[in-house]
Amino acid sequence: KLHNTILELKGNIRVFCRVRPLLPEDGMGTNMVVSYPASTEELGRGIELAQTGGHKYSFTFDKVFNHEASQRDVFIEISQLVQSALDGYKVCIFAYGQTGSGKTYTMMGRPDAPDLKGLIPRSLEQIFQTSQSLKDQGWKYKMQASILEIYNETIRDLLSSTRSSGIDQTRAENSAPGKQYTIKHDANGNTHVSDLTIVDVCSANEISSLLQQAAQSRSVGRTQMNEQSSRSHFVFTLRICGINENTEQQVQGVLNLIDLAGSERLSRSGATGDRLKETQAINKSLSSLSDVIFALAKKEEHVPFRNSKLTYLLQPCLGGDSKTLMFVNISPEQSSTSESLCSLRFAARVN
Ligand code: ADP
Ligand code: MG
Repeated sequence: KLHNTILELKGNIRVFCRVRPLLPEDGMGTNMVVSYPASTEELGRGIELAQTGGHKYSFTFDKVFNHEASQRDVFIEISQLVQSALDGYKVCIFAYGQTGSGKTYTMMGRPDAPDLKGLIPRSLEQIFQTSQSLKDQGWKYKMQASILEIYNETIRDLLSSTRSSGIDQTRAENSAPGKQYTIKHDANGNTHVSDLTIVDVCSANEISSLLQQAAQSRSVGRTQMNEQSSRSHFVFTLRICGINENTEQQVQGVLNLIDLAGSERLSRSGATGDRLKETQAINKSLSSLSDVIFALAKKEEHVPFRNSKLTYLLQPCLGGDSKTLMFVNISPEQSSTSESLCSLRFAARVN
């Protein structure tokens, strides 16, 4: 298209796998159950998971990052995809995996350490840098950000000032008072969520303070429950409108960066009551996501976007000539073997 960022995509959907290193929390004497095939054609694309008893499961993805891959190594592989949002593409990048597998590390990273910044801050820096340099060619961009989470099939605005005041905790738990957050798509493929806060942004710095605000309101509504962030989908959206003052060419791109809820199964979380409902909501939305991506990859006529809030929200950014990248994050230690196998199978299905 405009800036020569042609990607060779298999039906516009790619799957990258990333394995995190062993951590002290994994316990002493834990072995890595993940390895990488030595054959050259699978180099950097293959991954093997060894089960106790010796059986090995092999998978191939568009790219596999081993536990030594740095945040920079990962970003290099996605920077073109991010760039294409400036060319007017609709882009979604997801992180999928069980809690503790490195989703948030991959997406956000550690914002305090520049080398450990994840792909959200890196992407935004790149977008603003490139948009600046395209000024010379007459391009002017308007960018708008929104940040929300989907918890139990309910949207929460993470940039709403009503919510972050945090006075009415119970109501803040459900959603800000009187707010509907109804999702609508218009004829031009633009998504509108009623009552959602949309912020005009001009720099990566502005966005990082928004991300901080979002992190804060995430915890405000949740003081009683810990580990909550793993039970909701975090959706960062940047809308990009570009106009070229010389040629009058216009582009409208969208970049969605999504840190999904933990994919762990019911049995492991030992859930009852509200927790059970939560887990069912998570499983339902993750399997809806898988169904949608699978249907798109297979070019099926009916794509079941309406089965969950997440897929309905992202509908215009998942079909057509949009671009989707799914990270499947893997914990390499033995106790996670069965969850890792589930995650790899999930990812292999959509790959
Ligand atoms: P999730 O968001 O999937 O629950 P996190 O991103 O919080 O998982 O990661 C769990 C822990 O593992 C964190 O302490 C994180 O810093 C660490 N971690 C994850 N991935 C990596 C990595 N590639 N390199 C180093 N540490 C990592
Ligand atoms: Mg996380």
